[in-house]
Amino acid sequence: MTGTVPPPRRKVISSPYLHRLQRRHFLLFDVLPIAGTAAAFAFLAVHPFGITELVLLLSLWLLTGLGVTVGYHRLFTHRTFKAAKPVAVVLAVLGSMAGQGGLVSWVALHRRHHECSDREGDPHSPNLSGGGWRGRLRGLAHSHFLWMRRHEYPNIVHYAPDLLRDRALVRVARYYYHWVVLGLAIPALAGGLVSLSWTGAVSGLLWGGLVRIFLLEHIVWAINSFLHMFGTKPYASRENSRNGGVFALVTLGESWHNNHHAFPESPSFGLDWYRLDPGFWVIRALAACGLAWDLKLPSDERRAAKRVCPDPA
Ligand SMILES: [Zn+2]
Ligand SMILES: [Zn+2]
Repeated sequence: MTGTVPPPRRKVISSPYLHRLQRRHFLLFDVLPIAGTAAAFAFLAVHPFGITELVLLLSLWLLTGLGVTVGYHRLFTHRTFKAAKPVAVVLAVLGSMAGQGGLVSWVALHRRHHECSDREGDPHSPNLSGGGWRGRLRGLAHSHFLWMRRHEYPNIVHYAPDLLRDRALVRVARYYYHWVVLGLAIPALAGGLVSLSWTGAVSGLLWGGLVRIFLLEHIVWAINSFLHMFGTKPYASRENSRNGGVFALVTLGESWHNNHHAFPESPSFGLDWYRLDPGFWVIRALAACGLAWDLKLPSDERRAAKRVCPDPA
């Protein structure tokens, strides 16, 4: 044995193979929903938007949105609470159905975002594309959407070792594409069964599937883009994260983004009861049923120490 020291583990990986996968994911799950949304409006000439479409759109948006904010983000990325295994698996499946990436990749990318926020290495900062209005516009387009075409891939062994040790979650992540297809099949089947027609099935697929993916992803991306540029900043944090209180309901509480960067360990993003945070309401409900525990809420002292100005929102 020569006793050679192993090379340091690389934090990010870049390869033509990974970039091909990223381009494919971008076209399938980011560009295709735009075309699907246009098709949904065109299809109104064939099949009207009725109560079935409304229920499918809203219910699947809510379920997959909670999968992303409560599951992917608050539970798996930041470990802000602990959850019973079946709850964790259901949240992982619902988050996967949103079509925003497999669980392990999403968590690794988001942990890197917190590590490098608004500095070199942040996968999606709007503040690193130059000054002036052109630089700001370029930054917004990059952080909202374009970064996903091709980016450095965070090493999951470095960023998500806890997930890789969890066999049930790794299994969910491995079937990511199946879950996305399930999220499209359910509304198609429901639409077809309720209307007993093929046009109803297509309409269900479009509104409960592609339009729902389109709406939810733009809501989530707006956190990465607009809420790292515009909004209020009640807490000191080294990056440029902001709160956008008026969007609290539609983002299921994610728009308290400055609060979140200041206290990433907190399952509550609103922090106060009067700041709407549907994601935290769900965690509280799970805790009341004994299905979630160890909620790591920041103390009043810790909050006071970081507060720089009262939040008007
Ligand atoms: Zn986060
Ligand atoms: Zn952020």
